[in-house]
Amino acid sequence: MQIPRPDPTAISRPFWDGLRQRIIQVPQCDHCDAWIFYPRRHCTECGSRRLTWRRVSGRATLHSYTFARVATLPAFAELPLQNLAIVTFEEGFNANTSLTGMNADDIHIGMALEPAFDVIDEQGTTRLLFTVANIDPTR
Ligand SMILES: [Zn+2]
Repeated sequence: MQIPRPDPTAISRPFWDGLRQRIIQVPQCDHCDAWIFYPRRHCTECGSRRLTWRRVSGRATLHSYTFARVATLPAFAELPLQNLAIVTFEEGFNANTSLTGMNADDIHIGMALEPAFDVIDEQGTTRLLFTVANIDPTR
């Protein structure tokens, strides 16, 4: 069974197209600079419809997480235990995602994360997951 594919709309297509190129781009309000995630037609802070897609680094910290002991969809039952998470991008907005490639004992709130681009089909459809950041200690 295939895991669900995104169904991009005119509003969300730049996000999904960016992931195919390992680029994370998110709309930002031209009026108040708020980041709008998930992508919407208007700013959630001031209501402006003047938004510009901008590339973000993907650096994030773990805001919250849980393990889905029962798969959220049958298609996920064959995959490793789902580790659902909310991450906070360094730009300040949150996103729902999943963690990958991490041991449960190593996961803690506030830890540094980096994107893990998960290509899920032959067409290059890509999900945005997160994993532990490979931090350069000299940085
Ligand atoms: Zn705004």
